[in-house]
Amino acid sequence: MKIGVLALQGAVAEHIRSIRQAGGEGVAIKRTDELAGIDGIIVPGGESTTIGKLMRQYGFIEALRAFAAEGKPIFGTCAGLIVLAERIEGQEDGHLQLMNMTVARNAFGRQRESFETALDVAGVEEPVRAVFIRAPLITSVGEGVEVLATYKGEIVMARQGNLLACSYHPELTDDYRMHTYFITMAEEAAAVR
Ligand code: GLN
Repeated sequence: MKIGVLALQGAVAEHIRSIRQAGGEGVAIKRTDELAGIDGIIVPGGESTTIGKLMRQYGFIEALRAFAAEGKPIFGTCAGLIVLAERIEGQEDGHLQLMNMTVARNAFGRQRESFETALDVAGVEEPVRAVFIRAPLITSVGEGVEVLATYKGEIVMARQGNLLACSYHPELTDDYRMHTYFITMAEEAAAVR
């Protein structure tokens, strides 16, 4: 599977490495025409306001909405989760607004700006290693959204059909199982296209 990583800002190289380790082909995507032939795309962590602004500037809002409408999967990690959400607390507008959920940015407060933990993820056998850095939380989910993981009772991972989102950075450890999970989503989507 050819998996793109949106390369406008943020943790791009680490995702490409993890995709390769998980057996996929990782490709940095800087222009919308590079989406042709891509089976799934990751929107990485970074700074969601900056990523959103650059996405508007380079035509990625419309292009990625069309990509998702074709049934191709999108995985938003950390800032990428914020980019996927329909609603962002305290902000007028979202970015892609594809997932029926509300998110809060920088939701862990100063004491817990960054930490690593082991998370139980639905559908994955052993706990997954997760690195949280100025992470967002999903404060509510609407119809069609399945919660895949919680941390101390708060939602940190969810899926809505071909859309996957997590609060943490799955690309910063040598645990590649979330990339394997996403590659499987891309394979399943390709099989019905
Ligand atoms: N705090 C960032 C934001 O709100 C997200 C942090 C991250 O991606 N590690 O955009």
